[in-house]
Amino acid sequence: FLPVGILLGIGLVMLVLRVSQARLSPLADLQLAVKKKEFIVHYQPIIEMASGRCIGAEALLRWRRPDGSIVRPDFFIALAEESGLILPLTDLVVDTVVREMRDTLRQDRALHIAINVAAQDMKTGRILEVVSQALAGSDIRPEQLWMEATERGCMDIASASLTLARAREMGHSMALDDFGTGYSNLQYLQGLPMDALKIDKSFVSTIGTGAATSAVIDHIIAMAKSLKLYIVAEGVETLEQAAYLAERGVDFAQGWLFSRPLPVEEFVAFYCATLAD
Ligand code: C2E
Ligand code: CA
Ligand code: CA
Ligand code: CA
Repeated sequence: FLPVGILLGIGLVMLVLRVSQARLSPLADLQLAVKKKEFIVHYQPIIEMASGRCIGAEALLRWRRPDGSIVRPDFFIALAEESGLILPLTDLVVDTVVREMRDTLRQDRALHIAINVAAQDMKTGRILEVVSQALAGSDIRPEQLWMEATERGCMDIASASLTLARAREMGHSMALDDFGTGYSNLQYLQGLPMDALKIDKSFVSTIGTGAATSAVIDHIIAMAKSLKLYIVAEGVETLEQAAYLAERGVDFAQGWLFSRPLPVEEFVAFYCATLAD
């Protein structure tokens, strides 16, 4: 028979192994991923309706796990915002965009990249520091960096307005993202100094379905026009949707009809191909 001490020892070793193999909590998992910089940026082309040209892209965050699998932001953005990890993640996006897109942006001054700004950064204006530091010495012009803030991110109208106004003074264009999904009306919009409105894909997807909500999209377009804002439609998946939007004077569109979000080399190739057309 084995002495009790050895049995206890084996038990202890097995326990330690079990604990070290246990899954981390989602937050600890995300924290570790941020520390290890397991994130990349994909670029989704934005198309000018009138010319069919790619005039820019939206930078979209992706979590690339060590096993190579890619996690979409819907699974971690909310947690990142609650925990404050969205701040280092935003820094990472800005740095990556500057590093990866610098050469292309210097070659074509009309090209722009749009980044997503979190509510916290809209509230404090921290994003302005982050962006100006990243652009310093890069020879990328402020006009080439657009920022998208969601309606939710502009709930605190006074501080959001200040951040928007300062960003525009610096030369950036500002877009209101996911428009129509929250509490938005004409009065709210008039209080926010903006350049563009992004129509959420939930409205675009109603085009041609006969759904009652498809009237909402006409209303949004009319509202944006009366405020002289550029309009970007997102989630455009069909030719019918694109034609409908183009007929109504929507300026820009983004969606799987044109392209999915792409890794940088593929985006640059896509952009060059639309120039050649
Ligand atoms: P969003 O800003 O509304 O971005 C558009 C989302 O629609 C993207 O999802 C894009 O991949 C998807 N999409 C584009 N075209 C189509 C289409 O034709 N059909 C369909 N079904 N989907 C389309 P994604 O990349 O999963 O991002 C989800 C959200 O996560 C974004 O929504 C944005 O709110 C947030 N997000 C992504 N990157 C960042 C980031 O760097 N910072 C912050 N704060 N939020 C980010
Ligand atoms: Ca966006
Ligand atoms: Ca959006
Ligand atoms: Ca959206």
